Amino acid sequence: MSTNQPVAERQLPPHEPEPLIRTLALARRYHMGKSAVDALRGVELAVQPGAFVALVGPSGSGKSTLLHLIGGLVRPTGGEVWVGGLELGRSTDRQLVVYRRDTLGFIFQSFNLLPIKTAWENVALPMMLAGVPAAQRKRQALAILEQVGLGHRGDHRPAELSGGEQQRVAIARALANRPRLILADEPTGNLDSRTGGEIMALLQRLVRDEGLTLLLVTHDMGVAGYADRIVHLLDGAVQRIEVVAAPRNEARVTGSAPLGAEVREL
Ligand code: ADP
Repeated sequence: MSTNQPVAERQLPPHEPEPLIRTLALARRYHMGKSAVDALRGVELAVQPGAFVALVGPSGSGKSTLLHLIGGLVRPTGGEVWVGGLELGRSTDRQLVVYRRDTLGFIFQSFNLLPIKTAWENVALPMMLAGVPAAQRKRQALAILEQVGLGHRGDHRPAELSGGEQQRVAIARALANRPRLILADEPTGNLDSRTGGEIMALLQRLVRDEGLTLLLVTHDMGVAGYADRIVHLLDGAVQRIEVVAAPRNEARVTGSAPLGAEVREL
């Protein structure tokens, strides 16, 4: 084997990092009886580590399908989806389980907390699956709850918490195994606008401070404005990618400003 690197590799710009996510002609077709629906048709997307990307588009444009493909929950019917060094379409079920456990954190619109567990127990669940010893779980879970501003609520059950607090617990749970990538599906969809803004500011801070990569599906342009890239999907294809020059930031927005406000266009 030659030790010479291919010319193309040597000529890459020195500070351009490898994308964490790369899709190549990514396609997903669903069959419904005799008809077929092309939910995604040839998506080319690269997401750099540390990026905060919002996926927007009308209902049915393929946002959830793309998120689920990157989450290893749905398999492509065409093309490739790479996360780190793994091509998810060709991975085994076992590889996908390990990938989801070690690389990803999921955040959902409906929080999806276990009602009979306390906040810290909910956060500790993924740690249990990853084999963290019982003695360490509570301490680590409480430390992460502290990080999301809920250190004082560790022993509360979800029903004893507000919607915003429940979503903070869900965010803490998503962080439990120190993932590189957070996938969020309408994380503010069940929250009032002020609480939604607080959650977005928290996610934005986690991306910046922890070096996480965040991919978020939303139909709300106010929410998308917290991201530094907005990917517009239409009919299963990327219509355009918007670079947000000055992402929305709660510190610069008055407390009562509603989500759904303007997004800065380049
Ligand atoms: P969005 O999240 O933007 O609303 P989706 O990815 O959910 O879009 O859906 C894209 C298209 O794929 C829609 O036409 C939808 O009906 C179809 N679709 C999504 N999931 C399935 C499925 N499991 N079976 C059949 N069709 C599906």
